[in-house]
Amino acid sequence: MEHLVNLSYIAAAILFVFGIKMLGNASTARKGNQLSSFGMALAVVVTLLASDLNYALIVGALALGSAIGFVAAKRVQMTGMPELVALFNGFGGLASLLVGAAEYQRAHATINGSLLGKVVEATGIEAVDTFTAVVTVLAILIGGITFTGSIYAWGKLSGKLGGRALTFPGQKAFNALLALGIIGTGIAFALDPTGSIGYPMLIAVIVLSLALGAFAVMPIGGGDMPVVISLLNSCSGLAASAAGFVIGNNVLIVAGCLVGASGLILTVIMCKAMNRTLVNVLFSGFGATAQQSSGTSTGELKPISAEDAYYILEAAKSVVVIPGYGMAVAQAQHAVKELGELLEDNGCEMRYAIHPVAGRMPGHMNVLLAEADVPYEQLCEMDDVNPTIEMVDVAIVIGANDVVNPAAANDESSPIYGMPIIEAYKAKTTFCLKRGKGAGFSGLENTLFTAPNTRMLYGDAKATVTGLVTQFKDS
Ligand code: NDP
Repeated sequence: MEHLVNLSYIAAAILFVFGIKMLGNASTARKGNQLSSFGMALAVVVTLLASDLNYALIVGALALGSAIGFVAAKRVQMTGMPELVALFNGFGGLASLLVGAAEYQRAHATINGSLLGKVVEATGIEAVDTFTAVVTVLAILIGGITFTGSIYAWGKLSGKLGGRALTFPGQKAFNALLALGIIGTGIAFALDPTGSIGYPMLIAVIVLSLALGAFAVMPIGGGDMPVVISLLNSCSGLAASAAGFVIGNNVLIVAGCLVGASGLILTVIMCKAMNRTLVNVLFSGFGATAQQSSGTSTGELKPISAEDAYYILEAAKSVVVIPGYGMAVAQAQHAVKELGELLEDNGCEMRYAIHPVAGRMPGHMNVLLAEADVPYEQLCEMDDVNPTIEMVDVAIVIGANDVVNPAAANDESSPIYGMPIIEAYKAKTTFCLKRGKGAGFSGLENTLFTAPNTRMLYGDAKATVTGLVTQFKDS
């Protein structure tokens, strides 16, 4: 039976790995998700069958959890996805904390079932070796930080706790003290888990970790929450992996490591694309105060009507659409796809240039364009578009701002200097669709809007694109 269980775990791990690999391409992502889900279902069923459990309780909990997950996933809006992921991470962390605490409690339960904190040195105590003690404390502390950190992140993203970074004097020192407290009590616990200080130390670790999770996320602005959530996702994986060591479950160790590694890779990619370090995201208090403007533009904004824009588009042989957060706000993706089809019918080469941090969550633009059925092969990465952008007749910037800000490339004094951008300013003509003079996430001015080859198409992005579609259809 043990061999069969381990073989099934290996099969599940292989399904996870191939599933994740398939997530790397939009055309195979759905299948990859199904493959990994199947692997997880296999691991859960095998684990349950191989254990001696109260099945009524387990099935009841499974049914309840699945029902909540199903309804939540069905009801969530695409733009609400980071919030849902934050909640998932948080409860993943809580689960690891509970597994660690329950295992410690089980190891100390006397034959008579003594209460928490009163069982030390009673008969029937199982030995807790140092390794088990260390992984138990890791599962608990990472799980605790992940739980409250994720719930706080969810609160910020959903606006329930306000999106602003909250700072107070001595905050960093206070958080450092909390971290030191966790390390101190964690080491004390691991050195003597079954001694008289075992329980109090573990309870201190739990309380301090829960506090640190919330206090660590507090000084981070709502806009940076997707990066934080990605990092917390990685933490939830590490906590699960530690919990896997606690209960000796191989598939939990593997799955936890995969989540831990992929979350960390995504975090690094996002930080790179924003040209910020993780330390800057976590500790700079970005979003606590209004950002300073730089790159003050001296040129004038040149508006253009939909009719005149149509004449330029009608003559264009190649067009690149550069979507940003404003396209998501306007929900303009379907209108954008319709415009793309009309341009193609007119003999124009159509591409959609996707910046890795356009929008407010990883893959935000890919998801919206996929929802509108824009062909995958027309989606291009920034690095593929930039070398050819000078040959592009028209670049249509739809609700993007920071990801096309030339200051990132040519203004050394700009806070975003060095951030890779889509070089829309190099296209022969650039249309910028936005409602007014609103700044982007960074709050900086954008000299692209006053560049000689730029024309501003003011209004809600969906209404503007629909206006262009109407021009095409009517002529
Ligand atoms: P920005 O936030 O820089 O700019 C969005 C622009 O859209 C605004 O200037 C706004 O101008 C315009 N806009 C808003 N609503 C509408 C509308 N209804 N119709 C037309 N235009 C509209 O977006 P980008 O996508 O260029 O950049 C993303 C930013 O978010 C980057 O700074 C990135 O670092 C950051 N970020 C991204 C994360 C991610 O995971 N993707 C995570 C964390 C941060 P106006 O008000 O005048 O209309």
